[in-house]
Amino acid sequence: MRTELLHNSMFAMAATQFDGVADFLELNDELRERCKWPKRLITVTVPVRHDDGSTRVYFGHRVQHHLTRGPVKGGLRYSPDVDLGEVAALAMWMNWKCALMNLPFGGGKGGINCDPRTLSQGELERITRRFTMEMIPFIGEDIDVMAPDMGTNEQTMSWMVDTYSTHQGHLVPGIVTGKPLCLQGSAGRTRATGHGVAFLASRALDKLGVPIGEATAVVQGFGNVGSHTAFTLASYGVKVRGISDISGAVWNDDGLNLPKLSNHVRATGSVVGFSEADAIDPAEMLCQECDILAPAAAGMVITGDNAPRLRCKVLAEGANGPTTPEADAILNERGDVFIIPDVLCNAGGVTVSYFEWVQNLQRYSWTEREVITRLETQLEAAFTRVLQFADRFKLPIRTAAQALAVKTVSDVKAQRGLFP
Ligand code: GLU
Repeated sequence: MRTELLHNSMFAMAATQFDGVADFLELNDELRERCKWPKRLITVTVPVRHDDGSTRVYFGHRVQHHLTRGPVKGGLRYSPDVDLGEVAALAMWMNWKCALMNLPFGGGKGGINCDPRTLSQGELERITRRFTMEMIPFIGEDIDVMAPDMGTNEQTMSWMVDTYSTHQGHLVPGIVTGKPLCLQGSAGRTRATGHGVAFLASRALDKLGVPIGEATAVVQGFGNVGSHTAFTLASYGVKVRGISDISGAVWNDDGLNLPKLSNHVRATGSVVGFSEADAIDPAEMLCQECDILAPAAAGMVITGDNAPRLRCKVLAEGANGPTTPEADAILNERGDVFIIPDVLCNAGGVTVSYFEWVQNLQRYSWTEREVITRLETQLEAAFTRVLQFADRFKLPIRTAAQALAVKTVSDVKAQRGLFP
């Protein structure tokens, strides 16, 4: 299994990062092994009848990295080529994210190898419900709590709640987070990840002495994370000049009109063809001069190839794993890009998921203002802790963030001891 996992490029990347951090922490061999490898790797087949009467078997994965500090927490993604190795890497990163934010969770991630863009609502519903049924022996409010990720949303979570609750015989809202408000979702959850990305980017600019009202930004991705990142940045007075999605990219020197762009996307399904902007090559867009570059779509998009050509002051990682280790080394060597690493930068989502779960368990709901205030307080605390740690040990910010997180997990493992 070790070798199989390491064959996946994303898992190899997460493992390489972990090894570097474990070296820095001088973790002993026992803790190194216990922290690195996932506790449970679950793969199920998900047979689904399509609208045309044909049946197709999808593969669904769920990796529960560890349950040492509480239930497993993390998203479920629908993406055509998702596989166990990718899910395992993302589960490991969720660990560090939850630990860094002091949330009482281990990391998990799930994925089904389907393409949501080609499936009808009925097909998506059947895939989701069947996968949830297959997962019933392995999930629960105190075991594993899923959430939206790439290709999934509030509707997906609603079907999961319904399937799980029907099976239990009563409503169990805390089985997933990222639910709509009417189904005991949390105020502020939808915008939480993007809000956190923008909030931390503004804190980084502050450290660099760049006035936020004069700043410019480029955002890769216009899904839930990218769009809320862009909107929050714009609300701070930042000119968001470039935005891309899977079909193309658009650019406006004076800043894109985001409400109009959203309307265009709702009408056409993509940013391409937006009349108040020029088309730009999506790869070139990443290398344009800007204060904030926020990759908020896929993994491994900042590579050894484009890292030398980036012209941003702050790299705000809205996506999970957007920067390859090679690119990371180049950017660290350059020293002129302030990286806000994914485990910190996009932690707003899981932090408000935690708030949602707490509200569900308490049968109580908080106002949006309470949620956003608490979110910003937790992000600010983590940001300060990471910067102080990086400064004290002269570490890159990513290594500092991961080191703090791995230390949190390894301390609990050492304290609990090895059973039996
Ligand atoms: N999918 C999101 C992430 O990668 C959110 C996970 C959650 O809310 O549990 O952080």
